[in-house]
Amino acid sequence: MNANLNIVVSVYNEEAVLPSFYNSITSVLEVMSVNYRIIFVNDGSTDRSELILRSFALNDPNVLLVNFSRNFGHEYAMMSGLDHSDAEAVICMDADLQHPPELIPEIWEAYRDGADIVTMIRSSREDSGFLKGICSRLFYKFINRISDLKIDPNASDFFLISKRVCTIVKNDYRERTRFLRGFIQMVGFQKVSIQYIAPKRLAGQSKYGMIDLIRFSFSAIASLSKAPLRVGIYLGLFNAAISLGIGIYSLVMYFLDKPYSGYTTIILFLTLMFSMLFFVLGILGSYIGFIFDQTKNRPHYLVEDFVDQQTKQLP
Ligand code: UDP
Ligand code: MG
Repeated sequence: MNANLNIVVSVYNEEAVLPSFYNSITSVLEVMSVNYRIIFVNDGSTDRSELILRSFALNDPNVLLVNFSRNFGHEYAMMSGLDHSDAEAVICMDADLQHPPELIPEIWEAYRDGADIVTMIRSSREDSGFLKGICSRLFYKFINRISDLKIDPNASDFFLISKRVCTIVKNDYRERTRFLRGFIQMVGFQKVSIQYIAPKRLAGQSKYGMIDLIRFSFSAIASLSKAPLRVGIYLGLFNAAISLGIGIYSLVMYFLDKPYSGYTTIILFLTLMFSMLFFVLGILGSYIGFIFDQTKNRPHYLVEDFVDQQTKQLP
């Protein structure tokens, strides 16, 4: 029998937190009257996570382990979890207890009340430093300004989607440059938001440093909008205005027989122009890189094996 609810959990080097996560999520799910399956996706962990997950899947028929052949990244781990889910609704969440399992009954309730999408909004983050908080706010402001999409600020990778939304996302949103929490806000349908406080990581370390977050933010922006490609047009117009001003000024000075020596102006103008030019080239290059990755059409992830007590075969 198909489960009512699938829980997709991406795992990368989480040995320190997995036992607590498993205990806490199963104790929440056991008291709910739902038929559930937890789909753990092991994203090429190099610590003991795989062993721990294998033992969960071998001892608990409600656990499926999808074991990647190497690390493919969180977005692809979530994608694979959705690919292997078949329940009437699916929840994606992290393994580090920053997405509290105690909220699952409330999310399920919202789904039963008719929501196709339940997005979980961090009202505050106990883990994030000042800088990370500001960057995250700027990121959502920027993305809402440049794309048609209105995405809830502080949306997270903690959400529920109904089977019909899951089918759409897994069939039609398979592009290589991914921002899943944005995609689920693009499809329409009945959406409900729930606020929550994201606690600190229970144990282990965040896998995302500042550089990773910047890279992730840029690919999220590129996956939702072409606006950065227009930066060149605005910079070009801006430079044309500056050139016109300098040109007129120089001509006037020439006819007044007071030619401007202009060394500093030339140096400033050249350096400004070149830095803008390379900035625009960098944006173009990044988009070309995304197109290149997409055209190669390589697999998004590779599964080494499954551990599944229920079917004893590949799903
Ligand atoms: N994760 C993953 N693959 C990766 C990096 C992270 O599956 O390459 C998982 C990780 O195990 C966790 C979730 O994605 O369950 C979120 O990662 P993390 O907590 O490090 O990110 P943060 O909450 O600090 O943004
Ligand atoms: Mg985390």
